[in-house]
Amino acid sequence: MSESVTASNSTINQSKSKIILPEINRTSELNNLSFPNDAANPIKREENISNLLKEFNLESSKIEFQIINCNENFAGNYDYYVTETLKGISKLKKLNFENALLDKNLYLNINKNEISRNIISQKKLVLLDLDETLIHADFQDEFLNDENHPYDKIIKFTSSDNNEEVSVGIFVRNGIKNFLEEISKVFDIAIFTASTKDYADAVINYLDPNNEYIKFRLYRNSCIKVNNINIKDLRILGIDLKNVVLIDNNMYSFTNQLSNGILINSFYYDKNDSDLYSVMGYLLTYIAPADDVRKINEMFFNFNEILKQLN
Ligand SMILES: [Mg+2]
Repeated sequence: MSESVTASNSTINQSKSKIILPEINRTSELNNLSFPNDAANPIKREENISNLLKEFNLESSKIEFQIINCNENFAGNYDYYVTETLKGISKLKKLNFENALLDKNLYLNINKNEISRNIISQKKLVLLDLDETLIHADFQDEFLNDENHPYDKIIKFTSSDNNEEVSVGIFVRNGIKNFLEEISKVFDIAIFTASTKDYADAVINYLDPNNEYIKFRLYRNSCIKVNNINIKDLRILGIDLKNVVLIDNNMYSFTNQLSNGILINSFYYDKNDSDLYSVMGYLLTYIAPADDVRKINEMFFNFNEILKQLN
């Protein structure tokens, strides 16, 4: 179901976040930007390509490292979270994903035409993680009937495991509607979640009820699982990765394409959270006009450089 994250209260309190991304005067930057003409001409595309993918675990018995939980990813703990996570990533990267992907026919199972540049238009692609990036689902009922922290919505779905109806309260990250509206003018948006389709669809259908913003959805079965970590290897998209960013609160997601990753603090329920605004400013100001998003991300976040220094 959702990524299992149990945050201690102390951690959550510290997460009243100022994101690691540079603060940007959003309004003026927005007004000054010019966008390519083709940004206004989205082309209809297919959904749910991941139905074609099979769930896949990569054997990793020889890999040992300390897994850093994403509840460690909060403002003020950035250096620790990034450095400690990269230590694990440096080990994960030694696995042969290329062969594994090929072995399992992941490349072949994707109908690349469905997700090719021709179909996703000429816009750059913003992939959004779901849990603790856009919303937090309270599967532990930690805030059930808590008047101080009312849920934004109760999500209902039928579990594909046992066909049972599930209800879960969710908190929605501040600014999500605005974020989707503004970002979709310039980028294609898709969801790449490590959660299951049954749950994720219910949440996405709530966030985008008219199917206006989210162009396609990738679920757990599009991730590669290693040591209980779900890695989102962007090669399965079959498109030029100079035009793709993945926004995620879990750094392990980025393992195989660190410079495509934009790390956002983990969100639980903080109503004053402003990270989506910061990320929006970064996307519109720096990523939109970039020739290669990886160069820009690397310039700002230095993930590959930090990794090199760790080795
Ligand atoms: Mg997440």
